[in-house]
Amino acid sequence: MLNASYEPLNITSWRRAVVLLLKGKAEQLEHRGRQIYADFPLPTVIRLRYYVRVPYKEIPLTRRNVLERDRGVCQYCKAKGDQLTIDHVIPRSRGGNDTWENLVAACVRCNVRKGNRTPKEADMSLLSQPRRPYSSLHFEIVKYTQGNSNQEWKKYVIGI
Ligand SMILES: [Zn+2]
Repeated sequence: MLNASYEPLNITSWRRAVVLLLKGKAEQLEHRGRQIYADFPLPTVIRLRYYVRVPYKEIPLTRRNVLERDRGVCQYCKAKGDQLTIDHVIPRSRGGNDTWENLVAACVRCNVRKGNRTPKEADMSLLSQPRRPYSSLHFEIVKYTQGNSNQEWKKYVIGI
């Protein structure tokens, strides 16, 4: 569901989306061909006709959230798996802090290989510059758009 301003607002059920459309509170932007009622295709993106103010909700910096932001992929060698560790890009012993910008998912091999060095010193490069996630909704949307699911959502969301 998008706000009147086209910003993503939340992920809702198709039933609730249908109710909002029928009540005229939202317009349909994207749908899937499948008809749920006569002449009523399954909505996949709707936009509210009025603006809703949303308070900013900060995402806690946790190991799990860093792994999730990095999609469970080692940020040095792209290895996937359950054995990922958290690497301080600038090592703690060198003044690196626990921040979204300094923590990345790394496999054990890369973490050991990098050791107490910066990526530059270790001649290792990051897949992407680590940053604070946009919002917890953004996190959810990334999960829902993996593989071939909900691809039509992507044009409404930055950074995925
Ligand atoms: Zn690795």
